[in-house]
Amino acid sequence: MKLVYFGMVIAALQVNYGITTAQAQPDDAAVSIVFVGDIMLAETPGKVVRSGRDPFAPIAPILDSADIRVGNLECVVAGNGTPEPGKPYTFRAHPRTLSVLKRHFDALVLANNHSGDYGPVAFGQMLDLLDQHGLGYFGGGRTLAQAHKPLIIERKGLRIAFLGYDEFFPRSFEADVDKAGIAWSEDEQVQYDIRHARTNDHADLVIPVMHWGVEHERTASIRQRQLARIMIEAGADAVIGGHPHVTQDVEQYQGKPIIYSLGNFLFDGFSSDDNNTGWILKMELNHAGVIGWRVISTHIDHQGVPHPQVGIDDACWSEGQHKLVACK
Ligand SMILES: [Zn+2]
Repeated sequence: MKLVYFGMVIAALQVNYGITTAQAQPDDAAVSIVFVGDIMLAETPGKVVRSGRDPFAPIAPILDSADIRVGNLECVVAGNGTPEPGKPYTFRAHPRTLSVLKRHFDALVLANNHSGDYGPVAFGQMLDLLDQHGLGYFGGGRTLAQAHKPLIIERKGLRIAFLGYDEFFPRSFEADVDKAGIAWSEDEQVQYDIRHARTNDHADLVIPVMHWGVEHERTASIRQRQLARIMIEAGADAVIGGHPHVTQDVEQYQGKPIIYSLGNFLFDGFSSDDNNTGWILKMELNHAGVIGWRVISTHIDHQGVPHPQVGIDDACWSEGQHKLVACK
């Protein structure tokens, strides 16, 4: 097992949102994807949207630089439902936030511990609203089967399957045969879903996005490491995670990247620097899999709005490289 930690500080980092990658074949053009961590559009970020501001604006050039833009929607977006009794934090964003999300994202992962905060009826309304806005989603659905169905996004002839799973309680948010909800992470089911995405949905690449880990822990848990390996052995081309509210370490396993936690992206109410730092992950892929990736650090201001943060911890990897290096 080779762990790759990085904590390098780069005094004068040149900002370059591209990735240097191995030579791609002309008939196998690279597709770029950006992933961001938790997006919470209730509370103060919701007020920012209500005032007519776009909280994604400072980050928009980075998001727009990719062919596919994906984020974790850490709230329900609905006008109905009631807060889950006894749950300490419940987040419901106004439907007006969807046009802002649509401007910046192609797909949202719903498998997390807040999308069910206002019950299955509100969750179902969110699915209707996402459909109406033409926003893709995965890791959640109107039924259990839908929640486990991959979202396929095709760019430049490359079919990429996205799967999403939560394993942080409450499990009551899980979909059922007749109930809208999220996909829960059970190892055998996850392995099946990954294989099925290739055989049934004819995906060229499969990327599971996880909601897992221990909150405020900077290092991935044994469970995260085990499951990441299981997923890659089942055929995942990369594993991407979130939920701990901080960024965690990263690994390359069998040549495939594991980014355990992207941290918070758009979220208010945290006072520590760790919680107010997030990563945008930018990956380049072709039919062979991930051929390069880098992270871009972001900092969240007092309103929960992310901004690019220059000069710390930004790491790059490209095909053939044995360890991470500072981005140039
Ligand atoms: Zn979470």
